[in-house]
Amino acid sequence: MDRPAIIRKTEQDLRVAPHLADYEGVRRGYSWAGAGQALAGLPGGALNIAHEAVDRHALGPLRDRVALRFVANEAPAIEISFAELARLTSRFANVLRQLGVQKGERLFVLAGRIPELYVAVLGSLKCGVVVTPLFSAFGPEPIATRINLGEASVLVTTDTLYRRKVKAWRERMPSLRHVLLVSDDGTPTREPDTVDLAGLMASASDDFATTPTSPDDVSLLHFTSGTTGTPKGAIHVHGAVITHHATGRFALDLHEDDRYWCTADPGWVTGTSYGIIAPLLHGVTSLVDREEFDAQRWYTLLEQERISVWYTAPTAIRMLMKAGAELARGHTYPALRFIASVGEPLNPEAVWWGKDVLGLPIHDNWWQTETGGIMIANTPAFDIKPGSMGRPLPGIDAAIVEHLEAEGEAPRVREIAAPGVDGELALRAGWPSMFRGYLNNEARYRKCFAGEWYLTGDLARRDEDGYYWFVGRADDVIKSAGHLIGPFEVESVLMEHPAVAEAGVIGKPDPIVGEVVKAFVSLKGGHAADEALRLDIMAHARKRLGAAVAPKEIAFLPMLPRTRSGKIMRRLLKARELGLPEGDTSTMEGGA
Ligand code: ATP
Ligand code: MG
Repeated sequence: MDRPAIIRKTEQDLRVAPHLADYEGVRRGYSWAGAGQALAGLPGGALNIAHEAVDRHALGPLRDRVALRFVANEAPAIEISFAELARLTSRFANVLRQLGVQKGERLFVLAGRIPELYVAVLGSLKCGVVVTPLFSAFGPEPIATRINLGEASVLVTTDTLYRRKVKAWRERMPSLRHVLLVSDDGTPTREPDTVDLAGLMASASDDFATTPTSPDDVSLLHFTSGTTGTPKGAIHVHGAVITHHATGRFALDLHEDDRYWCTADPGWVTGTSYGIIAPLLHGVTSLVDREEFDAQRWYTLLEQERISVWYTAPTAIRMLMKAGAELARGHTYPALRFIASVGEPLNPEAVWWGKDVLGLPIHDNWWQTETGGIMIANTPAFDIKPGSMGRPLPGIDAAIVEHLEAEGEAPRVREIAAPGVDGELALRAGWPSMFRGYLNNEARYRKCFAGEWYLTGDLARRDEDGYYWFVGRADDVIKSAGHLIGPFEVESVLMEHPAVAEAGVIGKPDPIVGEVVKAFVSLKGGHAADEALRLDIMAHARKRLGAAVAPKEIAFLPMLPRTRSGKIMRRLLKARELGLPEGDTSTMEGGA
């Protein structure tokens, strides 16, 4: 179980020369203005995400390359080239024009991962309409809440989703002027007060002059995952495309001949920034799997689709680990050269599992809906310290800060220069994909900044080599007998135990020590949740963490509560433990 603290890259790992081979050098000479030069731009300093992602390639040598390849269980694969995507998005932009939808108006898409979703997102961007993809498994109420918060005037959805989730609520969404429906069976929809999208697309023109949006024009609204409370609507701008391009290059190491798969749904920011925009910017072919998670299927896709760069999430990796190594070893992955993960802390066990089972370690990276793009990463060129989220990318200044303000005052912080100290992770404001506000919540937005720093709400520490280590969300950190305990450290140790599939750790109020550490674990198949196992896990944790930090209580759960994007919801574990109200559960898996 004792593994080396560092995974050194080998020549085999580096067989495709990484874009960020000279980390220090590139960082030193880096400017965002310079980075913007890599994009085509539009006359007069205009910048439009769709132009960079689609039309630029449609007009050049990559025009016939497959941009998006959709696969599903029961349907043949659908491939859309860059040229075709340019035509379809122009048609969609013309449809919006004909309906009188103006630049700056808002359009929501509620659909599974179907081609129309991608066309609607990129087509909206093309004509300066602000777009929000919504996760299709949301129930009617969270959908209506978001549409109302975003004051959307257009909704693109499918026949079925409309009937099931929108129709009965339509009157409660007064801003909605147009509902465009994608038919599920090919026959034009007959729902009153809706229009059939295919019909409009068929008669629309292929020619559309991209709206010359400014880099500060709003492009996308994205809702946060709701892990810590009610989801917030983060406002993003077209200038973000500079970050999408740079991070696609440095953090995902996209090369033109890659076959790339991002497993996130576009309903979450990862599925848009890196499931739609970044790979297209790099002229890369993206796989879109229309099905839900299935371990066997995923291994088959990695193998048969010859995926070379794979971007996934800790929750998926934990599920693959739970399904057992044998399943993974039944396939080979000769094309695979880089695996990255985001969304939650990646336990060292998971990094090693990748190396043992897929032949490649998993590269953790860190960012948020608010940052719009990857900020801190393990890139292919870096040696990995399992458990660390890596180092800040070029153009990103990160710091660990401590708060100086008194309760109720505006944030005031001081940078902690010394390595090895826990504090709040802060980023120097000003990178292009930084959010520009929370919808209808200016006060909350202002609280995210202290002078030049954007405050992330996450606690971390930096080591002497400049690697950042996630400690926990500020809300989740446990204060016990004068110690600050990060749940991640405890969970990672629990995950080392051969029976443990998942762990979530909370602080439980205690009259003597303030809080005691309580762990909830779910087990891998073949293990009985009995007292002997509980004591064994407890002993393992004590040995590794010491009595002050190890959990005092361990409870078994068949499944931990999680968001639909797969994040463990510690606030729910805590609310349930303490018998408190559960709060907003709109993003909870299996929830409303
Ligand atoms: P909400 O803000 O609504 O509570 P959320 O913070 O989960 O939800 P996202 O913006 O999707 O919404 O997630 C960003 C957060 O996810 C980060 O602030 C961090 O807490 C966590 N996170 C993302 N990547 C990593 C990572 N590599 N390591 C540790 N934590 C991560
Ligand atoms: Mg958040």
